[in-house]
Amino acid sequence: MKKMKKIALHWKILIGMVLGFLVGYTLTNMGYVQFVKDWIGPFGTIFIGLLKMIAIPLIIASLVKGISDLEDISKFSRMGIRTIILYVLTTIVAISIGLALVNIVNPGSYISEETLSELVAENSETAEGKIQNAKAQGEAGPLQPLVDIVPENIFHSMSENGLMLQVIFFVILLGICMILIDKEKAKPLKNIFDALNDIIMKMVDLIMLIAPVGVFALMAKLVAETSRPDLIFSLIVYGLTVVVGLALMIVFYLIVVFFYTGRSPMDFLKGISPAQLVAFSTSSSAATLPVTMERVEEHLGVDEEVSSFVLPVGATINMDGTSLYQAVAAVFICQALNVELTMGMILTILLTALLASIGSAAVPGAGVIMLIIVLESINFPSELLEKGIVMILAVDRPLDMCRTMVNVTGDATVSMVVAKSTGQLGEPNPKNLKDHYKN
Ligand code: ASP
Repeated sequence: MKKMKKIALHWKILIGMVLGFLVGYTLTNMGYVQFVKDWIGPFGTIFIGLLKMIAIPLIIASLVKGISDLEDISKFSRMGIRTIILYVLTTIVAISIGLALVNIVNPGSYISEETLSELVAENSETAEGKIQNAKAQGEAGPLQPLVDIVPENIFHSMSENGLMLQVIFFVILLGICMILIDKEKAKPLKNIFDALNDIIMKMVDLIMLIAPVGVFALMAKLVAETSRPDLIFSLIVYGLTVVVGLALMIVFYLIVVFFYTGRSPMDFLKGISPAQLVAFSTSSSAATLPVTMERVEEHLGVDEEVSSFVLPVGATINMDGTSLYQAVAAVFICQALNVELTMGMILTILLTALLASIGSAAVPGAGVIMLIIVLESINFPSELLEKGIVMILAVDRPLDMCRTMVNVTGDATVSMVVAKSTGQLGEPNPKNLKDHYKN
């Protein structure tokens, strides 16, 4: 029994994932799809629900705490500027890797007419909804994203996880004003948020106790819901191009972390892996945020002042994996449908994929919707748009899982770099449940 306890969390989650896949696969093949959906799937939904439940309270509490701990605002703006620059730079690296790989491998040339019609026949209904959704987003003016950051009613924003950026905006303003007014006056509110922050971090610990079961259920459900797994193989070269690109991105992060912060790649991966695995199983960086915050603060040693700002902002605007994927997918679709790409079009893809990564919601499948906007920006023939999107949907979910993992790792990397640059990277200091039993 004692030995069981010693297994590290990431191994438990990994075992849960593999078992979930095997059980889901076996039961689906035995014809028990409905059983998996009815009796196993809900535990996965509960796990994601628990993580989402604490996402907004956690952002509010930790951001208020982080900002109001600062002595002056100049420190905050320094950190803010560094964060945004690093996010843009890492995203450009990701898109460049994607564009280089897809042009070298040329996965579009592996798609025959026959495969294409089969892929189109299977997914056409799903694509239509996504195209409508993208149209609505694409029709807005160029400054709409800026307008969308300012909430009209903060209580409304707080009640909707998709409006996280609005909550961040309000909370930053609140934190700044807490520094600006008399310290004594701000203290009672600060104490409340400090306490709330600690309490919610403890909730993350508790929720993570059921993470192995949660990911087990999520994987089993996913396998049961995949209607034509054989179609995945027809897109294998494309899928592998994305996966290799994402793997290169992880290598890039490890190099950055090693050379800039001196932390060994093993230590970094050990610290962040539970968050990566949760990101992989949930396909949502927003749902993973509480786990990312806990891992980065307690297991990588990033000061809360930094993590509480860098991570929530990163979860909403920094998506390196998604932008790499968009670059590969956009070029792949053009290759497969024989749409010629000029250098100008490739540069447009780079720019719009960068903006799309900022605009993508941190939820499953958001990347595909933004991909449509990327394609439209290069004047992709509208009569081929549906065909192009439909074609890649068969592998979208597994690729979504992988890119979300990279999105989360990118946020963690930037938080370490920012912390190092401001002298706020300390030693890991994990708190576990036992600490509290003793108190
Ligand atoms: N699922 C991704 C995330 O939450 C977004 C996407 O690429 O679809 O980070």
